[in-house]
Amino acid sequence: MFNLVLFGPPGSGKGTQSITIASTYHLQHISTGDLLRDEVERQTALGVEAKKYMDQGLLVPDEVVIGMISSKIDESQDARGFIFDGFPRTKAQAEALDKLLEFKNTKIDLVLALDVPEAELIKRLVGRGASSGRSDDNEEVITKRIKEYHSKTEPVANYYDAHDKLERVKGDHSIEDTFKLLARHIEKYLLPA
Ligand code: ADP
Repeated sequence: MFNLVLFGPPGSGKGTQSITIASTYHLQHISTGDLLRDEVERQTALGVEAKKYMDQGLLVPDEVVIGMISSKIDESQDARGFIFDGFPRTKAQAEALDKLLEFKNTKIDLVLALDVPEAELIKRLVGRGASSGRSDDNEEVITKRIKEYHSKTEPVANYYDAHDKLERVKGDHSIEDTFKLLARHIEKYLLPA
């Protein structure tokens, strides 16, 4: 198995790149943002609880997200590997993920961190808000999400760096050129399927 974490601030292009990476290398794409939005839409108990945090630009509590990931990993029995998008977002989530994968006799192989200047992030997110219909893509909530990223999520990069798994990639090129940079790292481990 090959397991990849695509890491980066809100608006860095994780979602877009993850879709291409998942189809090019036949990896199972797990996006906690998408999973949570699906729960919100179906108005499940988890969704109703998560929405309170998401609408304020705050992280959903670790135990909620970790439970969701755990069942998603269990559902995907014969995956070639996973690409985690938007997860882990706290050190507790990173530690929980290591345990879940260890239980499956596998591990995180590589963490690719997308680097995008803050002004560009805000521009992209405000632009997306105009068309996405996402209730958290307005300037006030965006600012909170970026603040939450700096305080809780950025330390996750140090966690993986300490385990020698982190590679930083500039994410302010075109979508295609950024993909090429990411692919160069991935192909040290596996070739397109
Ligand atoms: P973005 O990266 O553009 O902020 P996401 O779609 O990944 O968007 O996440 C949207 C929201 O969902 C986050 O602001 C947060 O409230 C919640 N969320 C997503 N993933 C996680 C996670 N791993 N832990 C906690 N909350 C999460």
